[in-house]
Amino acid sequence: MPSPPSRLTLFAAAVVLAACSKTQGVGGESSDASASTRAAQAPFVQAIAQAGTQDFEDAKRGLIARPSGKILSADGSVLRDFDAYGFLDAAAPDTVNPSLWRHAQLNAHIGLFKVMDGVYQLRGFDIANITLIEGKSGWIVVDALTSRESATAAMAFAEQHLGKKPISGLILTHAHADHFGGALGVISAQEASARKVPIVAPAGFIEEATSENVLVGAAMGRRSVYQFGRDLPRSAQGNVDTGLGKDVVYGSLGILLPTWLIYQANQPMQIDGVDFVFHNVPNAECPAELSFSIPSKKLYDGAENLSQTMHNLLPIRGAKVRDALRWATYMEQALEQTREAEVYIASHHWPIWGNARIQAFITKHRDVYKYTHDQTVRLMNAGLTPNEIADRVQLPASLAEFMAVRGHYGDLRHNVKAVYQFYLGFYDGNPAHLNPLAPADAGKRYLDLLGGADKVVAAAQQAFVKGDMRWAAELLNHVVMADASNQAAKALLAKTYEQMGYMAESATWRNAYLTGAQELRQGPPAKGVSKAAAIDLLLQTPVERFLEAMAASLDGPAAEGKKYRINLVLSDQKESYALWIDNAVLHFKRGQHPQADATLTLTKPLFVKMIAGTAGAKDTLLGDDLKVTGSKVDLVRFFGLIDKAPGNFGIVAR
Ligand SMILES: [Zn+2]
Repeated sequence: MPSPPSRLTLFAAAVVLAACSKTQGVGGESSDASASTRAAQAPFVQAIAQAGTQDFEDAKRGLIARPSGKILSADGSVLRDFDAYGFLDAAAPDTVNPSLWRHAQLNAHIGLFKVMDGVYQLRGFDIANITLIEGKSGWIVVDALTSRESATAAMAFAEQHLGKKPISGLILTHAHADHFGGALGVISAQEASARKVPIVAPAGFIEEATSENVLVGAAMGRRSVYQFGRDLPRSAQGNVDTGLGKDVVYGSLGILLPTWLIYQANQPMQIDGVDFVFHNVPNAECPAELSFSIPSKKLYDGAENLSQTMHNLLPIRGAKVRDALRWATYMEQALEQTREAEVYIASHHWPIWGNARIQAFITKHRDVYKYTHDQTVRLMNAGLTPNEIADRVQLPASLAEFMAVRGHYGDLRHNVKAVYQFYLGFYDGNPAHLNPLAPADAGKRYLDLLGGADKVVAAAQQAFVKGDMRWAAELLNHVVMADASNQAAKALLAKTYEQMGYMAESATWRNAYLTGAQELRQGPPAKGVSKAAAIDLLLQTPVERFLEAMAASLDGPAAEGKKYRINLVLSDQKESYALWIDNAVLHFKRGQHPQADATLTLTKPLFVKMIAGTAGAKDTLLGDDLKVTGSKVDLVRFFGLIDKAPGNFGIVAR
């Protein structure tokens, strides 16, 4: 998960912005909406006019208190500024899609809310919610936010307004970090274990929670900066929302090990005197996820399969593609599970009250995923390719007019491509796309063909003026990929992305375009996503995951012909692994080589720090905290073959 390495950069950028821009845009350029952007937004004004005000009443209902001020990290940097989105208290500016503005205003209703007798929610302390359910002796806490800092702040706020109660249960609805990363801010591992506090999670929770961050953390962390708009100014020209809530709080990430796992579609369980029925719903929104009902309260918690937005079949940060049909099936089951429900809550956004409204809400969610799936498959079978299908599929009016399934987080166009990918993969079947040129190589050839960069930029300028932003972006991307030093192309591409961001209804698209514009002007962040903040999580990750990640970091060409045999002994775990390289592939299995080149003995925490990059391999190997027998030289050479991914690679320019 991302941490705030570029806070200083952000601060410096903000100073530059204030000095040279009349509006606080992304990177100091003029940030007004173009005429074509304003025209593109007109239909959305129509859509929200029909939406009514019920959502606002729901989002405000039961407010007990609203936080202000900031959540700070241990070093004093700002992790969450509760007042940063005050600018949303105004009519929609033309730099934000009106539908997204409405959604961003709804998410700006933050605070401690009473949902019903014995049920409270803390919303806006992070991107997700904490729900508190009153048990016989204390709070049963549902979800734990992204970081220890935000969870601690939320729980302290609840204590201030509801009084002090012990934690009598913790339910971690799914294996995404924004719902478990702050577990240690809800309750310490020592207290949870001493008091035998039940910690409930879906089957496969730990495996899924720990795997994503280790193997592809560098790529996903970097891309999530685009999805969540981490480094954008909070302003009408910058970040207005994430679609799921306000800021992701990039603080210290941890986890607690579950004591109860949910395997069944309907699994009853009593926690602190409250009778729950848990529903295991894996491999839709998350590979490990549960929802639950409390029949005595007529309460249903949809976790994240349900939220007040169309969700992602494939988030743009990257993930394994999700199963739309299974998702729709879970919605069908949820309709059954909510026959008697009067209150709906979830891991993000505001609740819904009243059975008819809950059933309508779930029905629309069922059908938005089923429609997306079925229409994509229909057009796939008719021979259309992903970009063609994305341009073709539109929601029927009965779904499009329902605000809670509009694309404020997910987007129909990338969800359509996710369905295509789920069944047919990356290749569209056209041999022209079987082995296309890499972006820089294609860019250079296009530039030569079209008579040079200046002509292409001039053509892009014409497209920009006409409002043909997709074409302008395509032309300019060729120039920038061919030559990242072309300032005219980068400046115009930044302006183009900015307008595309202003038009986007999806917060993630807006954040991606505006971050692209920002990085064209300022370059990528100085540092990648730091793993140091996730050390509490990494320590709970099985050793095999680190060894898999290590194998996937082996520099293949450099390892060709090498035959190292290394023993790894984790002294505190009483575990040994034999590591070896064959065919430029790093393998491992439990046990030890009888004749190793070297044996490395160290503790798991030290090994994790070494592999996670928070302690350098060479320094660690030369330190006193570990034991090496055999050839230290071989060991250093072996670890020299393991790539470190700094995680701040260029995306919009190389
Ligand atoms: Zn979430």
